Amino acid sequence: MTVTDPAGRYLAVRASIDESARQVGREPSAVKLLAVSKYQPVAAIAAVANAGCRQFGENRVAEMVSKSEQLSPELAWTLIGHLQRNKAAAALKVMASLQSLDSLDLADRLQRLISAGARSNPLPVLIEVNTSGEVSKNGVDPADVAAFSARLRAFDALQPVGLMTVAHPDPDRAEQGFALMGHLQAGLRQRDGGGWAELSMGMTGDYRLAIAAGSTCVRIGSAIFGPRPGKFNVDSSDHQTAI
Ligand SMILES: *Cc1c(COP(=O)(O)O)cnc(C)c1O
Repeated sequence: MTVTDPAGRYLAVRASIDESARQVGREPSAVKLLAVSKYQPVAAIAAVANAGCRQFGENRVAEMVSKSEQLSPELAWTLIGHLQRNKAAAALKVMASLQSLDSLDLADRLQRLISAGARSNPLPVLIEVNTSGEVSKNGVDPADVAAFSARLRAFDALQPVGLMTVAHPDPDRAEQGFALMGHLQAGLRQRDGGGWAELSMGMTGDYRLAIAAGSTCVRIGSAIFGPRPGKFNVDSSDHQTAI
């Protein structure tokens, strides 16, 4: 059977995640699937939503806002790309959670906006960790994660729930990075007596390795939507309705 549409591929990816979890003795329900819809057209996202997906990940604020306005309010949007301070207010209008917290400056900006009424409850955040070295400039250095996470206690409008990483493209280095994430998480849990339950790691090319290493959230784009188009036009008048 070949699956050629995004809805069918979404279901196939979910089944593959379930199978990968079972193979390493984990409950399939312990691994969430975030469909990464960056650059993808609203119609494709609506099709995946109709297949049962409610969690979508976006990299850019304007694109996330535009899509959220065109799609069902039942969908939850997670920001997984770098968030600039000056876009924090716009992002807070839409995002259910932020997986790419990487600076105290940004934490401070979010704290002020939420305290001033931008949200009625704390924003769930994951600390982005740079496990790949030179490949990505985003994320907190692994050596600084403990100190960074302790500083977040000062921000009661944020609810730190775990760690996120984009792995090195080389599988061996990715595996090392995933293992490091597990060690970092264990260290935080020991220090704080629990918490830090979420480990967001694994993308189209490496999600099986990430699930074996304890991932609780895989972020899958291409395997669901196919190759990414060059860009998404935020001014598109091509309105679609999901569900
Ligand atoms: C684009 C992106 C993904 C999804 O990548 P695929 O390889 O298409 O699955 C996941 N996480 C982040 C942070 C991304 O930017």
